[in-house]
Amino acid sequence: MTGQYETVIGLEVHIELATKTKIFCGCSTEFGGAPNIHTCPVCTGMPGALPVLNKKVVEYAVALGIATNCRITQVCRFDRKNYFYPDNPQNYQISQLYLPIARNGCVEIETPSGTKKIRIHEMHMEEDAGKLVHNEWDDTSLVDYNRSGVPLVEIVSEPDMRSADEVIAYLEKLRMIAQYLGVSDCKLQEGSMRADVNLSVRRAGTEEFGTRTEMKNLNSFKAIAHAIEGERMRQIELLEAGKEVVQETRRWDDNKEHSYAMRSKEDARDYRYFPEPDLVPVVISDQWISEIKARQPELRPEKIERYTREFDIPRYDAELLTESWKIADIFEKTVQLCGKPKKVSNWMMGEMFRLMKEKGKEPEELDFSPEHLAKLIELSDQGAISSSVAKKVFEHIFAENADPEKYVEEQGLMSVSDEGALREAVEKVIAQNPRAVADYKGGRQKAFGAIMGQSMRALKGKADPAAVTKIIREMLDAQQ
Ligand SMILES: [Zn+2]
Repeated sequence: MTGQYETVIGLEVHIELATKTKIFCGCSTEFGGAPNIHTCPVCTGMPGALPVLNKKVVEYAVALGIATNCRITQVCRFDRKNYFYPDNPQNYQISQLYLPIARNGCVEIETPSGTKKIRIHEMHMEEDAGKLVHNEWDDTSLVDYNRSGVPLVEIVSEPDMRSADEVIAYLEKLRMIAQYLGVSDCKLQEGSMRADVNLSVRRAGTEEFGTRTEMKNLNSFKAIAHAIEGERMRQIELLEAGKEVVQETRRWDDNKEHSYAMRSKEDARDYRYFPEPDLVPVVISDQWISEIKARQPELRPEKIERYTREFDIPRYDAELLTESWKIADIFEKTVQLCGKPKKVSNWMMGEMFRLMKEKGKEPEELDFSPEHLAKLIELSDQGAISSSVAKKVFEHIFAENADPEKYVEEQGLMSVSDEGALREAVEKVIAQNPRAVADYKGGRQKAFGAIMGQSMRALKGKADPAAVTKIIREMLDAQQ
């Protein structure tokens, strides 16, 4: 029965901009901190306090607009969205309705059936609200205005997505663009990227949209995927039972895997929008747009081209290393330090990706320093540590950003490079294994492996296998 329905999804994505100060005052945007320390009369809505627009917010929003192929609105304006809620101290939010900063854009996503275009209806600048802290024990609610006035860009897509996979691909694309531009860190867990999902279902083959619902407060890709599946099924069941879908805002509870009606979905007119009288229109000149364009950093496609050209690494490597801005950043910094792109790439594509998968770490959570990876590559290249030791050391760099030089010294992992010590160890093994020696001389190559293995064990793996091989061959050949 579900196959007869098509799911239609549009997204409203809020991205918190990484400016140092808030959108309309000089308060810090720093995450965390004691409640209400990053506040002033403007962001706590004191009567008579006047907002002053942060120029950086406009620059970041324009940069995002350009990167998502939008048309920039060169004379744009702010509007008041009126509503009462304790986390909103002015009783209105300064947002944009009539002349948003950017319109008519699109991004491309990869789907199993090829590249798909997701259209962006518009992008507007607005301020974030504060946060309510509910204390269930003494039945009180407190409010923290540290987030009040933090700049946001809301990106409204057209209803172009048809599945949870497409939604996640779209979100990942937006996140990558914002991170590459340096306009936001887009951390879903900290709320610097949030998505509201508008979803409706319709019988396959029909053009007309069904009634949609909106789901709010989705703060992980997993929750988004669950919520989409849950809501899709709920709507189909209603329609199959001959009932109607009600246009409303619902809250998804990921623990209970169920959504609840919050309120009937409001229209723009419910907010009694009107042009913000305390702010002048923002005029964005052609020159300003070209300046921002010129400063636009390299995005992923250009990075892939440059990596293959400048660093001479395979395209496959370049594609994986640029999937996240954070990984590309670690790669470039490490290469700058040690000058060995292919080796850096091998470490990251091999051990790093393996450990990320094993520990369930996201690229944004990587916190080891490029200096340490560069040092490890040097140590390994100099033959100071064996490759098996190097892998072990990397696990500690990955987990606790260990300094490889210190770690190797403290743990006594330095390779035995002293020729005398190597010879002594090999000599002992040969003396203790006359059988293997005889087998080797009788032409059984396998026996060489046994001698090699025992020698490496005797040296506790802290020797360069090539050097040990050479010594064993020399000694065995000398015996003939
Ligand atoms: Zn303030």
